[in-house]
Amino acid sequence: MKEKAEIRRIKAACPNCYADPEKIIYQNSGPIVRIYCPECGLVCRETDAWANHFKNVIDYWNHIGFYMVHDE
Ligand SMILES: [Zn+2]
Repeated sequence: MKEKAEIRRIKAACPNCYADPEKIIYQNSGPIVRIYCPECGLVCRETDAWANHFKNVIDYWNHIGFYMVHDE
């Protein structure tokens, strides 16, 4: 499934509420490409990414997102 592959590329937690990356939803419905946080409602659109010189919204999210420190 293409969508699951896209979701796994989201590596950063929500920058607003720190929701786990696995909860973050990637939506690609043709003209609308965005990343959505179901915990706090934060939305990142592909146009936001382009405006900030990122090539897509996933790269942008991973840049603005929050990284948890995991014990390995
Ligand atoms: Zn959030």
